[in-house]
Amino acid sequence: MNPTNDPSLTSWVTSAQGSDFPIQNLPWGIFSTEGDERRRAGVRIGDRVLDVDALQEAGLLDPVLPKGVFATGTLDAFIGLGRETWSAVRARLSELLRADVTRLAEDAVARTRALVPIEAAVMHLAVSVGGYTDFYSSREHATNVGRMFRPNDEPLLPNWLAIPIGYNGRASTVVVSGTPVRRPLGQMKAPTAPAPTFGPCRKLDFELEMAAVVGVANPMGAVMTVAEADRAIFGWALLDDWSARDIQAWEYVPLGPFQAKVFASSIGAWIVTAEALEPFRVAGPVQEPEPLPYLRHPAAMNLDVELEVAIRPKGAAEATVIARTNFAHMYWSTAQQLAHHAIGGCAMNIGDIIGSGTISGPTPDSLGSLLELSWNGTRPISLADGSSRTFLEDGDTVIFTGRATRGGLSIGFGVCEGEILPAHVREGW
Ligand code: MN
Repeated sequence: MNPTNDPSLTSWVTSAQGSDFPIQNLPWGIFSTEGDERRRAGVRIGDRVLDVDALQEAGLLDPVLPKGVFATGTLDAFIGLGRETWSAVRARLSELLRADVTRLAEDAVARTRALVPIEAAVMHLAVSVGGYTDFYSSREHATNVGRMFRPNDEPLLPNWLAIPIGYNGRASTVVVSGTPVRRPLGQMKAPTAPAPTFGPCRKLDFELEMAAVVGVANPMGAVMTVAEADRAIFGWALLDDWSARDIQAWEYVPLGPFQAKVFASSIGAWIVTAEALEPFRVAGPVQEPEPLPYLRHPAAMNLDVELEVAIRPKGAAEATVIARTNFAHMYWSTAQQLAHHAIGGCAMNIGDIIGSGTISGPTPDSLGSLLELSWNGTRPISLADGSSRTFLEDGDTVIFTGRATRGGLSIGFGVCEGEILPAHVREGW
């Protein structure tokens, strides 16, 4: 086992123990503070952000890395140093935070400077996200959507079991958790309506997903094996791929999602590294028919991460959990998705993100979208404040959480959340 994943390790930052962010996690993010607005790299430990740029300036980082690499505004430059550097820095941070290591713990000046209370940190998008591709890799989700939208046909289209299906999303509207989401405007047409109408989306939805962050670039036209793709992933974060179902239903034939998916995709502030997730690797569902050779797995490449979705209406005292599922259910793994994508000739750059696709499980309470939970608006869901939902209302905050637990280890992803703001409407529309 990688020594940084040892379940017996504890930290002198006592809030780490039992939190989403114990010493075995050390997820990366980009933050600023009120007194220091530079966007810099940090790792989360308990209720603190460890300022890695400050550690480097204090000469506490080992190995020696290019000056300022943690203060460029994103993690791209650090990620670009490669896998061995990610690993070496993780090992050093783990060492500095260990309960039995006093180097940082007893240096009051460095400690005060480098450990920022989470309340004082403003989180930003951690990577540049030059490209965003969203897949459609949960068999349960694809089957449910097929049943709803093509009730007279086989729910899974014939290509689905052969190809990790996806579409090219908009990187320009990938935002960090906490950013409000404006209800989009668009065209809608019910199947029985004679003509389309224009207005605010009435079937606004979330999609529970995980985002993989590309950590090793793949030049245009180059290829990757599934094993290489697996090693090219820097880490994963929670992802809400917001969707306008009524706009989607009218526009999606024949070219697939377009305006229904462009208005926002929210990504959790913390990227949990592939190294921290190593102990949580599991085999995915059996793939039958067996994929073509270029898509076959050399090892278990799914991740056992428990996921939860909650909604908190505006002014409500509490959020209501409406779904619980697991990332391990995915039929196509991230490595298969990335290999398939690169093999087509697509350049993959550091900081690009790969959306897993909506993560739905096999039971009615494990579905990753309101489209499925309310069965396209036909089964309202009750919330703790006495209200009910089929789709999202203005003022609703959708909150995702994720946690991996196994063999005495337990690490979390924090939250991915966003509040729905009312649509902008102009007179005469
Ligand atoms: Mn999606």
